[in-house]
Amino acid sequence: MVSNDSDDSAGSDNSAGSDDSAGSHDPDDSAGAVGAVGVTQVVNPATGLVVATVPQTTAAEAEAAIDRAARAYGSWREVAPGDRARLLRRFAAVVDAHVEELAELEVRNSGHTIGNARWEAGNVRDVLDYYAGAPERLTGRQIPVPGGLNVTFHEPLGVVGVIVPWNFPMPIAGWGFAPALAAGNTVVLKPAELTPLTAIRLGELALEAGLPPDVLTVLPGRGSVVGEAFVAHPAVRKICFTGSTEVGTRIMAGCAAQVKRLTLELGGKSANLVFADADLARAAATAPYAVFDNAGQDCCARSRILVQRPVYDRFLELLEPAVQAFRVEDPALETAEMGPLISAGHRKSVSSYLDGAEVAFTGSCPEGPGFWHAPTVLLARSPAERHWREEIFGPVVSVLPFDDEAEAVALANDTEYGLSGSIWTQDVGRAIRVARGVESGNLSVNSHSSVRYWTPFGGMKRSGLGRELGPDALHAFTDVKNVFLATDA
Ligand code: NAP
Ligand code: MG
Repeated sequence: MVSNDSDDSAGSDNSAGSDDSAGSHDPDDSAGAVGAVGVTQVVNPATGLVVATVPQTTAAEAEAAIDRAARAYGSWREVAPGDRARLLRRFAAVVDAHVEELAELEVRNSGHTIGNARWEAGNVRDVLDYYAGAPERLTGRQIPVPGGLNVTFHEPLGVVGVIVPWNFPMPIAGWGFAPALAAGNTVVLKPAELTPLTAIRLGELALEAGLPPDVLTVLPGRGSVVGEAFVAHPAVRKICFTGSTEVGTRIMAGCAAQVKRLTLELGGKSANLVFADADLARAAATAPYAVFDNAGQDCCARSRILVQRPVYDRFLELLEPAVQAFRVEDPALETAEMGPLISAGHRKSVSSYLDGAEVAFTGSCPEGPGFWHAPTVLLARSPAERHWREEIFGPVVSVLPFDDEAEAVALANDTEYGLSGSIWTQDVGRAIRVARGVESGNLSVNSHSSVRYWTPFGGMKRSGLGRELGPDALHAFTDVKNVFLATDA
């Protein structure tokens, strides 16, 4: 079932029929094979086989669902903070009880490794638990003024539209809906057309946990239909978008007409900076994970490796066996470190970056069926090369030498993006200088971690606008109201 509305005749039969063997996917279709009009055939990227069919929400159905969410907002915002917190905790507990089921569904729909998919389902649980602590703590301030009492309130916005890409269907959905619901908003959620299954299931689990109908409504369908309905409908007061910079800028322009609030998490081309004084063995051993995790379909992928010249050759010598040992196999296997790409069309786009490029070495991957691509290391002959500049969103990494700290920072910043990055050095002073110098929203020193649900996440420059997660994201789902009460007799 797609919608949380029990009397929604249009959306109530969206349960994904699972007919594993039903037909194969057109290998040249990048957008999920669409069978009958208005139906998405969901494809397992590891096999190319259709695993489910999902009806697409029409524009009229999306508008009706938003209207219902707007009505539900009237009562959801009035739910006592402790009761709202309890419902979110119960939702977290129900997700926890279904981690394995959700993970297996994600493996089949997205080709994520089972280990990653378990983490992703667990992340939804954790984010719900974390923001379940918020309703009773969403306090305003009392500000001293003469002649009265001045207080502020963090008011919810209304309906929030969450638009999710195909690369991390579960966590990115949760990063939007958990704080939005905790702050007293209702949510309409559009999963990516290629990967709707876990979002649909999360919508069902919300109802099972006792969230009232229409508080969280999952509306699968096309971006140009459902996503645009979110942008156009005046009852949607905020859009929380994760996806490409191209679509993000269109959404921003659409939101401008209504001064609609907006959070954007967009692309990246993050640098992995390896200085000569680094623990080179660790830097090389971890570099494959930093870019090939999720088959490189990760906005935080460290897809540009910059190595200080004296250790450049040695780093490549250490990197080669690490790349060759990276296990690319059936993502349902516990040993898998990388699965396939999301679609045949995306694989074509990824492999186009190899044309004319200098390949240093590659790992291995299964033969078809499925949309496999071997981990690939390219040598950048200059920072002008296309594979060095553009987000590839696949298991391809480019390596370039640098001479000194200033050049490293300048090269790291020579991109329109600014999402993440890693800095490998034993010199604390340098670590801090470089971390302050690189224009990215998330950096890690001697590590590749980017995401912890209790710390802020987001991009600088064309990587995005606003921050998700952490203590402050909650406020991005509220407006501050200032109230003055005269006390003069
Ligand atoms: P996308 O094409 O931008 O799509 C993202 C979402 O927006 C999908 O649900 C899509 O629906 C929807 N959409 C498409 N056109 C729309 C429109 N006109 N109005 C409203 N919504 C619309 O991105 P993608 O192809 O799914 O994901 C790949 C890109 O996302 C990557 O290039 C990467 O840069 C970026 N990304 C960034 C982050 C981050 O956190 N910064 C995370 C993941 C991905 P359909 O599914 O129907 O197209
Ligand atoms: Mg797209």
